[in-house]
Amino acid sequence: MDSVTVLAPAKLNLTLDITGIAPNGYHTLDMLMQTVNLYERVTLRKSPYLRLRLPGSNVPANEHNTAIKAALAFFDATGLLAGVDITVRKAVPVRAGMAGGSADAAAVLVGLNALYGAGMTVPELCEIGLKVGADVPFSILGGTARVQGIGDVLTPMPSCPRCWFTVCMPKGGISTPQAYARYDELGTDVHPDNDLAQRALEQGDLKALCAQMSNALEFSSQSPANGPIEEILRRSGALAALMTGSGAAVFGVFRDEKTAQSAKAELQKHYPRSWVLHPVPRGAHVLPARPAGKK
Ligand code: ATP
Repeated sequence: MDSVTVLAPAKLNLTLDITGIAPNGYHTLDMLMQTVNLYERVTLRKSPYLRLRLPGSNVPANEHNTAIKAALAFFDATGLLAGVDITVRKAVPVRAGMAGGSADAAAVLVGLNALYGAGMTVPELCEIGLKVGADVPFSILGGTARVQGIGDVLTPMPSCPRCWFTVCMPKGGISTPQAYARYDELGTDVHPDNDLAQRALEQGDLKALCAQMSNALEFSSQSPANGPIEEILRRSGALAALMTGSGAAVFGVFRDEKTAQSAKAELQKHYPRSWVLHPVPRGAHVLPARPAGKK
């Protein structure tokens, strides 16, 4: 096998609470995360060199890229003397709070493990991933999970009840460090009750889950688009409407696909980058190889 292709999903934060500051200066979090069916497609090819391409994207393909960081962390952890040629086809918007960069890192780790038959376990890959970014372990595991600490304490949850998300990316994005700096300055009174949200998940109760959905970073994000987008989502029948992660994407939760599609149509009059997505149960995974001769 000379190449593998990995699909790595975006995530949404069903909740996000900030619980404190860790000794290393990172914020400690308590959140419910969900992977959704918007995928980065990452192809890895054996090579003696380390090379990255992101066709159609203006994210720089340099040493700061999460895909490169993940490859270096993988080779460092395994001691493997090899390279890789990485092609990332981005579908997840950048600076959206949807963990696109973390999905790319997760895809590289899962892909290199398969490509070189390194035999790393999922917890071992998560440990390497955490060195690249706080959301990488969740991007590897996927599904529905409660994520605590600095992103390192993951507890798988029962699947999210059947629903659709209308996700809207306003123009421009939000930088994660800036979002946290503004939070430190302004604070917030918004603190989701994650125990209640977890109980709602356990009971498969979408309405009760939506009642707990909120994001402690939303007030300080000061993104002027959040209010109008959330208003359109609520007017269109969303059970909850909130920002994901550190922004800038905002989403609404719908019981049925048709209403979610109507909300998208309404949003697209003002915000072209809108999607209807649904929960998916797994994180970064290798696509099965095509049978020989099939294009
Ligand atoms: P999160 O939800 O994990 O906070 P995000 O959606 O806020 O993620 P990303 O889009 O993952 O943010 O990354 C934002 C920044 O990281 C950008 O400024 C970008 O230049 C840099 N970056 C580095 N590598 C990548 C990558 N592979 N894809 C996207 N952005 C990357």
